[in-house]
Amino acid sequence: MSRCMVLNASYEFLAIEEHWIDALGLVLSGKAVPLEEYPDVVRGQRHNFRLPAVVLMRYQVKTLRRRQVFNVPTRKAVFIRDAFECQYCGTRISMTTGTRDHVIPRSRGGPDTMINVVTACRGCNVRKDDKLPDEVGMALRNRPRALTEDEKIQCLIKLVRAKERNAWMGCLRRLGLGLWAA
Ligand SMILES: [Zn+2]
Repeated sequence: MSRCMVLNASYEFLAIEEHWIDALGLVLSGKAVPLEEYPDVVRGQRHNFRLPAVVLMRYQVKTLRRRQVFNVPTRKAVFIRDAFECQYCGTRISMTTGTRDHVIPRSRGGPDTMINVVTACRGCNVRKDDKLPDEVGMALRNRPRALTEDEKIQCLIKLVRAKERNAWMGCLRRLGLGLWAA
């Protein structure tokens, strides 16, 4: 069964509800309103219910969890954006084998931001060293950029099913929502 994205009353991302019964419970108890529903219907004794895909809390939930920040080029964020491929040679990397490379090296004042950090395999990272790509005859396959909303969702949950992605992204687009500050 598909999971439900829960937005706080402020429209900020709050959580992913793993079980549809809990998501439906939030709606039926009046704690949340559905913003997007899946086509799936659950038959109740008196009513049938559409399963919620995105719900909005009616009151602001205080959370101690730190707000996700996606402009920090963590390994996960950089690898997901670059589809787990070395941006110099195209080699496939994993969370353990991949490295982060600063296109403009830190030693030359390059910032630690998404637009200056790319995925590199160990070999390319060693070869590039503290140089600019041109200086060692290397070229980037893609220009580094900030994460898209879709990629931010991927950073939050390991495996997003196509049905969930379509429902969540469709809802965000329809409401003109950016879930997180870039
Ligand atoms: Zn490489």
